Amino acid sequence: AQYDAVAVVTGANRGIGREVCRQLAERGYRVVLTARDPGKGRAAAAALTEAGARAESYQLDVTSDTEAAELATHLKRRHGKLDVLVNNAAISYDTWQRAAGADLGTVREAAETNLYGPWRLAMALLPLLRASPHPRIVNVSSEGGSLAGMGGGTPAYSVTKAGLNALTRVLAAELRQEGILVNAVCPGWVATDMGGHGGRPVREGAASAVWAATLPDDGPTGGFFRDGRPVPW
Ligand code: NDP
Repeated sequence: AQYDAVAVVTGANRGIGREVCRQLAERGYRVVLTARDPGKGRAAAAALTEAGARAESYQLDVTSDTEAAELATHLKRRHGKLDVLVNNAAISYDTWQRAAGADLGTVREAAETNLYGPWRLAMALLPLLRASPHPRIVNVSSEGGSLAGMGGGTPAYSVTKAGLNALTRVLAAELRQEGILVNAVCPGWVATDMGGHGGRPVREGAASAVWAATLPDDGPTGGFFRDGRPVPW
């Protein structure tokens, strides 16, 4: 980063989120690595710090209004602004379900995390993003949420990611005039706890989010990208 930029990443104790933190720190960002389990967050941030990164952890369950508000207060006191929000945290509990036979409790839980989580964080942190010279919001979505290719198999996950894509467009349109770039990215199929074996390395999966987090001021907004290239909605 050309300036002292601060980035918040959700669900960053493992997987793609943790790697996004590592790559942003490598580019000079101060990284606020958030995790719902504070012990896991501290351990992940400590590993980055030991490797020379400027990283701190903060407890954040993305389903909690209280914790989102506390994070905003913490950031205001400590940094006075926020430059990058990466909404990465998500769950995919429903791979065995059919939409026609879904447990709506599971669907609600997925929506609370995958859709309302990013929405909640964007609202809570918007005043701090407005204090940044180059604010960016990155919603880590999935091609599974693409209406163009939507099939069966993971209904709660697919529908909540489609909702996240819709939120991305609406927020981008609202915030365009203020210079806040809002984009959705698909990391591709990535070898993590969620992705399982056989996917691409996490380093490659994280790169799409880092690309969208570090776009220039004349970069795109309201788009859906993988590896810096548009993905069909
Ligand atoms: P993982 O399952 O490996 O990691 C998910 C992370 O989200 C964990 O840190 C988990 O925390 C966190 N999380 C879940 N619920 C909450 C919550 N309520 N509050 C805070 N944190 C939470 O997933 P990936 O790293 O693979 O996925 C990251 C993103 O990439 C997700 O948005 C996913 O949908 C997307 N994606 C991944 C693909 C893949 O192939 N891996 C493909 C397409 C998209 P905890 O450790 O506490 O459970």
